[in-house]
Amino acid sequence: MNQYKWNTSETLRELLCELVSWDSQTLTDGERTFSSKLKMKLEQLRYFQEHPQQLTLHDAGLGRSTLTALYRHPDAVETVVLISHFDTVQTEEYGVLEPLAYHPEELTKKLHEFKHELPLAARVDLESGDYLFGRGTMDMKMGLALHMQLIEKASIEQWPINLLLTAVPDEEVNSAGMRAAVKALVRLRDEYRLTYKLFLNSEPSFSQGPTDTKEYIYSGTIGKIMPAALFYGKETHVGEPLKGMTANYIASFLTQRMEWNEKFRETDLGESTPLPVSLQQKDLKFQYSTQTPYRAAALYNVFLFKRTAADVMDVFEEVAREAMTACNESYQAICEREQVKGIGEVRVLRYEQLLAHAEDKLGAAEVDRLRAQVLAHDEWDDREKSLRIVDDLMIQCQELAPAAVLLYAPPYYPAVNSSHDPFIQEAVRLVQETARSFDISLEQIHYFNGICDLSYVNYDDSANGWTSFERNTPVWGETYSIPFEEMGELKAPVLNVGPFGKDAHQKTERLHVESAFKEMPVLLETLIQKLFCKKIDVA
Ligand SMILES: [Zn+2]
Repeated sequence: MNQYKWNTSETLRELLCELVSWDSQTLTDGERTFSSKLKMKLEQLRYFQEHPQQLTLHDAGLGRSTLTALYRHPDAVETVVLISHFDTVQTEEYGVLEPLAYHPEELTKKLHEFKHELPLAARVDLESGDYLFGRGTMDMKMGLALHMQLIEKASIEQWPINLLLTAVPDEEVNSAGMRAAVKALVRLRDEYRLTYKLFLNSEPSFSQGPTDTKEYIYSGTIGKIMPAALFYGKETHVGEPLKGMTANYIASFLTQRMEWNEKFRETDLGESTPLPVSLQQKDLKFQYSTQTPYRAAALYNVFLFKRTAADVMDVFEEVAREAMTACNESYQAICEREQVKGIGEVRVLRYEQLLAHAEDKLGAAEVDRLRAQVLAHDEWDDREKSLRIVDDLMIQCQELAPAAVLLYAPPYYPAVNSSHDPFIQEAVRLVQETARSFDISLEQIHYFNGICDLSYVNYDDSANGWTSFERNTPVWGETYSIPFEEMGELKAPVLNVGPFGKDAHQKTERLHVESAFKEMPVLLETLIQKLFCKKIDVA
């Protein structure tokens, strides 16, 4: 019995607290060093001492890496990929308790002294003793700890299945870790002749409202894409407002029509995508002056179920055309009232059209030079770079102004859904049945609404709608890319089963102790054993 390191509730809880204590906020040193610490931890298992080559780090950019750990049974080809992310969001909101954010046991104790400052629901949960608080407990180091427990158990008991633990950085920002993992998964599949049968993520089960204590299993994940626009008007002095057109004026028409626009709502299997909102709208003036702002940008968030990047760009263009028609009409009326000629009509074009025009006019080499100049600004993120590339091209192509140029800004998470897969239906039934033995009602949700890395597997897009993303994303192939072709090769259904928790990304993030340390280990083991290891008897 002693050969197991993480097979009891107590040892699993200690493992979780250790993983949490390796503070690994996205884009910090902790995120960079986490995967090597995790590798050392897994090297403690005898299986990986005997098979060190099956424990691998894969470069994920910016000094970060994805870790894969492969347990292989000599007679098995069927493989379950266990996906988790190890980065966490920031901790400023903990205030004076911030030093304890990554120490769940201490934090949970200390919180009793501050409980009057907690929202009621969190205070009740704290007093119940049923929850462990801390950054990353729920989202999602517990999922990783559960996968480590599974791989340990499978390797000691020699389950007749292959398990490929895949732990990635950067899920909370750009998913660079998972996008790097996709290529590694294709390589490992070929190298070890694996057949992927299931992509199992263990993101936590999110409550659907403040009083919701139901637990969920997810047979897909929602997608997210960010249409953006660069508005180019005409500069003038504030004393002569009718000689120009501010970009803010143009932008206001589109933003007005994008927010809550039901044309972007998708409904599938009784679920609906949340409506779009703007994430940013700003002019591109670097400092105050009495010159009017004639360049502005806006960024919108759109959720997806079935639509591809091409579908969304079509809807976005339709909305932008309506918006600019309204803008032009309103501007025309003002010109008539003021008896001026005006500066002309605002046109709508896609980034790919602007690019073609610029290459025609300036030559491909000059366009490349302009792009490279923007890309050299390391202090700008991918969104800023995207907008600045369009801005620079428009400055060189002012004959197109006034204009609204439509583009995509990273990141893009395609939606994926396996609800119709008979294997997943069986898996859901099985997990629900096992949950019932714990007196838990586990409900199925078709699209995980928290955004997760499952977006990058089992990609299905026969119409190649992704090429619209490629053509309209200015930083594509430079600082951002998505391995769509490899994603299409990773054909296996997806499922998310994880522990119950509340308030991810808040200072009251907490994990349900029973769910995490008692129920989930049984649920996950039963799922794997019953679906894949029917040949052996479980002791
Ligand atoms: Zn997460």
